Amino acid sequence: MSASTRIPVIAQPFVSDRAKRTLDQVEQFVEKECIPSEAIFRAQLGTGSQRWSTYPAIMETLKQKAREQGLWNMFLPKNHFAQGAGFSNLEYGLMAEYLGKSTIASEATNNAAPDTGNMEVLAKYGNEQQKKQWLEPLLEGKIRSAFLMTEPEVASSDATNIQLDIKREGDEWVLNGSKWWSSGAGDPRCAIYLVMGKTDPTNPDPYKQQSVILVPAHNTPGITVHRMLTVYGYDDAPHGHGHITFKNVRVPVSNIVLGEGRGFEIIQGRLGPGRIHHAMRTIGAAEKALEWMIARINDERKKPFGQSLSSHGVILEWVAKSRIEIDAARLIVLNAAIKIDQGDAKSALKEIAQAKVMVPSMACGVIDRAVQAYGAMGVCQDTPLAYMWAWVRTLRIADGPDEVHLLQMGRRENKSRKEEVRRKLKWQAEETEKLLGVTAGGRSRL
Ligand SMILES: Cc1cc2nc3c(=O)[nH]c(=O)nc-3n(C[C@H](O)[C@H](O)[C@H](O)COP(=O)(O)OP(=O)(O)OC[C@H]3O[C@@H](n4cnc5c(N)ncnc54)[C@H](O)[C@@H]3O)c2cc1C
Repeated sequence: MSASTRIPVIAQPFVSDRAKRTLDQVEQFVEKECIPSEAIFRAQLGTGSQRWSTYPAIMETLKQKAREQGLWNMFLPKNHFAQGAGFSNLEYGLMAEYLGKSTIASEATNNAAPDTGNMEVLAKYGNEQQKKQWLEPLLEGKIRSAFLMTEPEVASSDATNIQLDIKREGDEWVLNGSKWWSSGAGDPRCAIYLVMGKTDPTNPDPYKQQSVILVPAHNTPGITVHRMLTVYGYDDAPHGHGHITFKNVRVPVSNIVLGEGRGFEIIQGRLGPGRIHHAMRTIGAAEKALEWMIARINDERKKPFGQSLSSHGVILEWVAKSRIEIDAARLIVLNAAIKIDQGDAKSALKEIAQAKVMVPSMACGVIDRAVQAYGAMGVCQDTPLAYMWAWVRTLRIADGPDEVHLLQMGRRENKSRKEEVRRKLKWQAEETEKLLGVTAGGRSRL
């Protein structure tokens, strides 16, 4: 059964024939080209310090193959951007699931974070010169980029806390401060940082204090990349998550994106579709974990106490629960994508937040069951499960922790529904009392 025949019934009316054909091509490309090449990528990367200065040649080979098949820049949705491959968020969402099954497929098709979000920023808010200088080579896959918002000294899940100082001096912006978790900053091809900081720290509106400035990553005096942070011990080379300081870093005033005090607008615009791209890929990771679980429980060589694991009810229950959870989560993600397609990311805030919170927790649970089915082998490098778990676990924190999304969602749900539900329940209680022929006085519980 090919990928296009597995599209959930609810989503089918929204998927074009062209997207179905591309979806099948993406599946074949990921399963037959990318997954077998992952070991080559790791071998070419090696183990020494050159991992941060060279780049595995296999990636360029894969990129070439992807471009030949038109599998390139599928993430830019057709109703908002002219530069992409002409698919909707839903159609790309179905494809992203397959990209999420491989550690290298997203980059091979130029659909990798954080470039996707950064390209959206430049396409949506950049001026013509910024688009020419930075968006064009990013769309071509010639350079990579990083988005620098999070800071080590402050609780960055509340972006009003961001401190990096940006002052205007003549025709230049001068940047001072530190950033960490700058994903992609380790890559030798990372040429541009999108840096968020404060241009107007005393503005009474805390949402107007921030701006985003474009800072060339190479040959800009005052930038120090101190170290790459590890994720549960993985350094994610050559991509990396940088800890970077800025000391009197100077760039021309024309490097501001959109305008002074527009930083919040930009991060909100950036994180909408990007949040569901992660969710879509994570569904693919969960599917992959389930595939590995099924392979293990049917392994003829490994029969504890003389029985195949697949003959145990508890293990089959893990398979069934995983199937239910993945399928349910996929519907949540696709629903969010359809909602964005029918309006924009702002009109789908609730649906995006549902997907952002639900999918990583679901996938962590599925991967954990697969790890358990493998025993000790599940926690080491001999299956993709350990790395997948580490990656998926971070998604409960990256792009804003679960609690912040849940708080906002809870507030919105409560605010928008409290009057209506109280009124309705009161009315129903009164109707019931009337029907019972009892007077209402003093009997209402609301
Ligand atoms: C793998 C990875 C990649 C990342 N990539 C990038 C990147 O490319 N660029 C970038 O700028 N940042 C990046 N980040 C950083 C990420 O966006 C932040 O870590 C995240 O926004 C949380 O900020 P913080 O770490 O400062 O946590 P804090 O703000 O200190 O929050 C700590 C904890 O407090 C709790 N909390 C916070 N608010 C509330 C609340 N309202 N109610 C209840 N509890 C709450 C949550 O449990 C939260 O995890 C990345 C992080 C990871 C792990």
